[in-house]
Amino acid sequence: MKKKIKSRILVYLISLIILAIALVTFTGVFFAREASLQTHFESTQILAKEILHNVNEVYKNAAQNVSVIAENNNIKQSFESPEKLKLELIKLKRILGTYDDITILNPSGEVLTSTDYNYPASWTHHKFFAATVELKAPQVSVAYYLPEPLRFITSFTAPVFDEKGKLKAVVSAQLNMKQIQSIVQHLTLDQTGHAYLIDENKRYISHYNEEKLLTNVDLGLLQKIEQQDSHLELTFDQQIHIGNYVTENERTLIVLQERDEVLSFFNDIFWNILIVSLVIAVLALLIGLKLSQSLTKPIEDLNDTIHKFKQGDSSARAAISSQDEIGELANDFNLMIKEVIEFREQLEELVKTRTDELEKAKDEAETANRAKSAFLANMSHEIRTPMNAILGFSQILQKTETDDEKKMFLNSITTGGKTLLSIINDILDLSKIEAGKFTLMLNQSSLRSIVTETCTILSNEAKKKKLDLSFEIDEGFPQMVIIDELRLRQILINLVGNAIKFTDSGFVKIKASHSYCDELNKFTSITIEVEDSGIGISEDEQESIFNDFIQSEKQGDKLYQGTGLGLAICRKLIKLMKGKLSVESQLNKGATFKIELPRIEVSEIIIDDDNYVNSVANSYLDFNNSTVLIVDDNEDNLNFLVKLLEGHNIKTQTASNCEKAIKLTLESQPDLILMDLKMPKLSGYQAAETIKANASTKDIPILAVSASIVDENTESFKKLFESFIPKPVNSELLFNSLMNHLPYSYSNSDTKN
Ligand code: ADP
Repeated sequence: MKKKIKSRILVYLISLIILAIALVTFTGVFFAREASLQTHFESTQILAKEILHNVNEVYKNAAQNVSVIAENNNIKQSFESPEKLKLELIKLKRILGTYDDITILNPSGEVLTSTDYNYPASWTHHKFFAATVELKAPQVSVAYYLPEPLRFITSFTAPVFDEKGKLKAVVSAQLNMKQIQSIVQHLTLDQTGHAYLIDENKRYISHYNEEKLLTNVDLGLLQKIEQQDSHLELTFDQQIHIGNYVTENERTLIVLQERDEVLSFFNDIFWNILIVSLVIAVLALLIGLKLSQSLTKPIEDLNDTIHKFKQGDSSARAAISSQDEIGELANDFNLMIKEVIEFREQLEELVKTRTDELEKAKDEAETANRAKSAFLANMSHEIRTPMNAILGFSQILQKTETDDEKKMFLNSITTGGKTLLSIINDILDLSKIEAGKFTLMLNQSSLRSIVTETCTILSNEAKKKKLDLSFEIDEGFPQMVIIDELRLRQILINLVGNAIKFTDSGFVKIKASHSYCDELNKFTSITIEVEDSGIGISEDEQESIFNDFIQSEKQGDKLYQGTGLGLAICRKLIKLMKGKLSVESQLNKGATFKIELPRIEVSEIIIDDDNYVNSVANSYLDFNNSTVLIVDDNEDNLNFLVKLLEGHNIKTQTASNCEKAIKLTLESQPDLILMDLKMPKLSGYQAAETIKANASTKDIPILAVSASIVDENTESFKKLFESFIPKPVNSELLFNSLMNHLPYSYSNSDTKN
């Protein structure tokens, strides 16, 4: 039963081949038929020529024999005796055997004697006779009927002269046309092929139908002959006749045969082949239809099943409708579906086991992560709290100290403290960014101030290595932009710090440029480049150095301190700012780190003096005699914040615990509260909750101040606190936050206390 499709296709192909052969044969027969027609035309011409030749020979002999009789001496000498003349004539007629009768006439047309008849009438009315007498030369009549007995004859005449050459008599011999007809009619081609003889008057003088004798030839045939068209095709007796003709001595011999008879052989084959071809074509069509149906139906069924299975119907199975290859395919497909389902079930089982394992591992990792976060939070609190005091008091002392040397020492303490803080912050930042919990704090900032500060902080380092540290800010750079100043400063310190670290001689240069994004100058793109003439970075390491904890391995044997975290944090921070950080460098030929910030908002606040930096601006802030309550359990912190707010026209109140803070708030209704979060007994959160719950104090803004890691974006935090200030407190951030909640103005330096 196998290979059924193959055999079906084979049958189909064979029928197609037979069809093709039939068609080729059909065409061959068609051309053979045409060739046979041509042959017919040629062969009928040859036949016509031969018959006409024989006819003409009879005519010629008849004419010659009459002349022989006219010149016969016996005849001439027998004129005196009609009896003798008749006997001589009878003798000659027998010898020659050509004529029906021989008659001798005197020139007046009276019969002198005849072998068979006595013609009483004069012959002068016969043209041929008259012409013989007149021309004294032999003549041939046209064919005509002679009565009694009725005969169809042609007369041949010759003059008889006496010794003096005078016309004595005329000999006339009658040739019976049966002789001619027997030659012409001797030809028969099959059933319908006949020869016809036509005289100079275009009348039939030989025709198989005697009734037609001496009748005129059809006009159509006459025209064809006159046009000398050798291919005769005529319709008579309701049949098409074809043939050819030959004309000689004014006589024309035609051979015609019914066309159907000529082509009967081919016509029979032609129709037979046509019928066979049609039958085979119909059969091939039917087989083709059946074959295509039998092939496509199971394939369509299979396709439907595949579709259903794809749609999720796992019960779908292909129908096995035939025992051929497609049936086998359907069977294999069903087996495959079974295997797929089994495999899927196994896979699902495996995935479930793996998911459970992963879930477990995830829980473990999250527990570990929570432990790490708690550790980091505690560490940050524990390290940053003392740092708050160190940095805070250094800043306060810097403000009051007039001795330059001491001021320089204080500066170094601040710088060192800040560096230490930055390492802690680096680690905290990285974990925060990676946890997706990092948010930028946008505020009005002066880029010039950030760059100046960066250079100030790092100037000692540069000086130690005798490096030329400089900066260049392009003309017209917007004075104030809305940016996370703290983070931009952190990035710059990192990049410039690296530049100094990896440069042994030469320079470190900061270049800042900008280009406004719109016509109103509301947004600008900023590019900051940090260029150095240091050891550079090989091309293959220019990407990897931005990865966490990665340092170059191709920069020689010299050891450089570092964690490999700085650039990773910088790139992540810049990415948060929707910018790009890249490097261009060659080993031993310096490096240029490029920060590109595509769209930074320009602040509308304009400060007249170009060199007026934020920190300086803050020192002229006047908060309009507002009252600020500071809550912190750490006395140093309390004192530091009180000192920081001094000179800005602010009345400060302090509370070392929350109970006192709540009481003071209710009593004195301060304009703003700076609230530490982590305190014994009541926490800052609880105190804020109580204050916000009271109708009389609910609108007082509370700023959270803490060294702990705080997620300031949670709803619960936003409900209680207006904003968050991390410890150690950055004075600019603090003043910026105060400016958001308290009325303020810039006071004249002269009025500053
Ligand atoms: P760290 O400086 O703490 O090693 P960074 O992430 O800041 O970490 O830098 C990673 C590495 O990139 C450095 O160790 C150094 O190999 C290379 N690098 C960074 N800045 C420069 C620079 N300006 N010149 C040459 N190499 C640099």
